[in-house]
Parts: sequence; C-alpha cells; structure tokens
Amino acid sequence: MNFDNTYKTLPPTFYSNTKPSEFSQPNLLAFNDELAKELGFDPDQYTSEELAKIFSGQILLEGSAPIALAYAGHQFGNFVPQLGDGRAIMLGEVLTKNSKRYDLQLKGSGRTVFSRGGDGFSALGPVIREYILSEAMYALGIPTTRALAAVETGDLVRRETVLPGGVFTRVASSHIRVGTFEYFAGKKDINAIKVLLSYAIERHYPHLKKDDALGFLKAVIEKQIELVSSWMSIGFIHGVMNTDNTSISGETIDFGPCAFMDKFSQAKVFSSIDQYGRYAYNNQGPILSWNMTRLAECLIDLVDVDESKAIDVLNETLSKIKPKFESTLNKKMTAKIGLNEEDNDLVAEFLEILEKEKKDFTLSFRNLGNGDFPEFEQKWVMRLIERGKKPDEILDQIKAVNPLYIPRNHQVEKAIQGALRQDLSTFQELNELLKNPFQFNPKLDRYKQEPTEDEIVCETFCGT
Ligand code: AMP
Ligand code: MG
Repeated sequence: MNFDNTYKTLPPTFYSNTKPSEFSQPNLLAFNDELAKELGFDPDQYTSEELAKIFSGQILLEGSAPIALAYAGHQFGNFVPQLGDGRAIMLGEVLTKNSKRYDLQLKGSGRTVFSRGGDGFSALGPVIREYILSEAMYALGIPTTRALAAVETGDLVRRETVLPGGVFTRVASSHIRVGTFEYFAGKKDINAIKVLLSYAIERHYPHLKKDDALGFLKAVIEKQIELVSSWMSIGFIHGVMNTDNTSISGETIDFGPCAFMDKFSQAKVFSSIDQYGRYAYNNQGPILSWNMTRLAECLIDLVDVDESKAIDVLNETLSKIKPKFESTLNKKMTAKIGLNEEDNDLVAEFLEILEKEKKDFTLSFRNLGNGDFPEFEQKWVMRLIERGKKPDEILDQIKAVNPLYIPRNHQVEKAIQGALRQDLSTFQELNELLKNPFQFNPKLDRYKQEPTEDEIVCETFCGT
C-alpha cells in the first residue's frame, strides 16, 4: 500500500501518536480481497496468519504511522467536548493508483489517550455487524465506509459478560466528522478550525476555495441529504446519528446499533440506548438538520467578521435543508413505485398500509404488482397509465431500485452467534449474498425472509 499520511502534517492538537495493543492469537475471520486490491494491496503475498497480524496492528506495514484522532460531539443532544478515537487507531492514509485517498483504521485495537474509562477494545459481535452492514450498504449503492478485514484477537473483553475480542479494519474517505469541527470550536480555537476547513475542503470538496466556509457547509448539507434520504429509501436506521458519527464526506460511518427494518413503522427505533426515539426512522431528516446546525455554529467566525451577518447567512442556508430533504426523499420513494415526486401521495398511502397491516418494508416494495395489495395496486396501475407508463415495463424498473436482500437483523445476529461458536457459515453466506442485493440468488434466497416471532431482534446494542 502506498501510504501518504497528510493528517499527521496538521498541528499536534489534531491527533496523538498511538500504538495498537498486542493480542495473543489474532485469527483472520474475513478479508475483502477486492477492496484490498483497489487499495494496491495484494493479499496473495501474505499468509492468513500474517494478514491477521497486520489487520490487528501486530505488524505495521511500511509507511504506516498510527494515530488516534481528536474530536468532540453532541451525543443524544449533549455536547461532549472531548471524545476522540478511544478504541480506534488510524494506520495511515493510502493513495490508490487512481489517486484516491483513503484512511485505513483499526477499530478495537486497544487504548489511546482518548479512551477515558474504556478499554479500547471491541467485542467480536460489533466487528461482524459492521463488516456485514458496511459492505451491504456499499452494494446497495449508498455512500459508506467499507470493511477490509475482521480479526478475532484471541483475547477476551469484559462487557456485561466476557466475550471474545475482535478488530475491524475500516476504510473511509476520511474520518473528519462534524465533531472534529466541534472539538476546536469548543476550545474557541479559530485558527485550528481554519486549518481543518482548508484540509477538509482540499480532501473532499476541492472545487471550493480553501476558506469558503459557507460553500463547505452547503456541500456537506447536500451530501448528508443524499445520504440520509438514501438510508430511508431502503428502510435503514442508523441508530446513533450523533455529530461525532456524522462524516463530512457524506459516508455512512460508525455502524453501531443500526439496523434495517423488517415490518414498516415510522417511529421504529433499534438502539437500546435511544429511549426517546431521537434517532427513530422518521426522525432522521430533522436530526440531519440539527447536526448541520451544529456544524454551522462552528463556522460562524469564518463566514463573516460581522457575527449577525454570518448568522443570517447561515440560517438562510439551514432553512433550505427541510424542503430539500423532503423533496429528495420523495424522489427516491416515488422511484420505488416507478413514479415521480408529484405522486408522493401514493407512497404515503402505501406506507400507511404497510404500517397498519404490519408488512415487511423491503419485500412489499420489491413485490409490488404481485397482487399482495389488490386495492392499492389497482390505484397504482391507474396512476402509471395516467402518467403514460407501461405497468409491465415498470416492474423491471422498480426491481432495480428495490433490493430483494438486506442484512436482516436476525440474520446478522445469527452470523454473530455462529462466529462465537467458530461457525462462520452465516457470516460468509450473508457477505456473499449481499454483494448483489437486487439479484435473485436461488442458493441463498432463504435470507430474504422476515424473522419469525421468536427470531425478532427488538434491540441492538452498540457493544461498547
Ligand atoms: P461510539 O458510540 O462508538 O460512536 O463511540 C463514542 C465514543 O466512545 C468515541 O470517542 C469512542 O472512541 C468511545 N468508545 C466507545 N467504546 C469504547 C471503548 N471500548 N474503549 C474506549 N473508548 C470507547
Ligand atoms: Mg462513533
């Protein structure tokens, strides 16, 4: 891999040099060959033992210079001035042949200066979950960080019970979060915000001038609108949309207690810690707006020397989020039934039926036209005709936007339970299946089923 570590050229307050912990017997559970090759890394040159050692931090690749990044964040609405990589270590930035830059990061590799009371480790469960979900997200065509490797460490971690430990290798277009800006804003370190802004612009929005704070905010907003509306169009609930889990690149990041819905419900929450539904399915739009407001606050001094002018300009930008988000989401949702934004009334009606009849979100959209909802379908076909569309042709078209397979929570849970017994079959089958979520897979089709009553997983835990 061609390491080129630019974050380390930023002031020392941005990060801390850190070494990954030692583990007794790292064992490779999954490795993403395709992604590795994209990164210029040929896994065939290494044994599985070597890969396990590299991707648990026991062997450092040449050019790697591990650091933990500083950031703050609003967690469930409360500002925490210092979070940072408490259980993650960035190995470095990799430049690909096509000049794309990616961060390579280990999660669960031990304590850092940001660990506070935590042990810096990760249980195996969250490693398996993030591996499956991030790769599924990628195959669904939604911006996301990706999974390069999953390693079992051979050591135990203490949570509510004692569990096998794991290390996850994440690949991200960067790890700059809204919370990174908040870290320096919290310290009133305007110079640092300027440095960060210019770095972030160069890395993600190079068409902008390096001090264009307003342009930057607008660009991040656009990415976030695209991201969150895409999540909702496939029934995804992030679970912890804190500002420290909001990437300024617009990628899905920090797959914790996240999940795809089975039965549709607007107010669905998975996370065990989300008691009041702050991050419920249908609250993700308002929360995106809330998070962007926190970013805007960090940029006030950079937008205009006259504070009240700056606030006016920022407010005007923020006020456009809601209508833009709704319109983007409506476009994506109406595309799921082969129509356009103006036909959103039909989507609303369909969602109401799903919620009332407790139907599966994914399969109901996928099977539209099969006669499961005769009354609605009649109306829908009339509308298609009204809009000059041929219902037969539409069926193929909507199959291209409505996935057949998603990483269902009960299957992810089975993959985790299997891995804990050294049985990786469900983990591997899910990874295989979810590479092509829109395509019928006769061998693994059983994974499309929604959970039976006793398979339902009501809550997911972040596993920290
Ligand atoms: P998360 O909820 O995973 O986004 O993490 C929020 C913050 O808690 C981040 O600063 C993490 O690095 C930190 N954290 C989570 N789990 C641990 C752990 N086991 N040890 C140390 N820090 C942790
Ligand atoms: Mg996080």
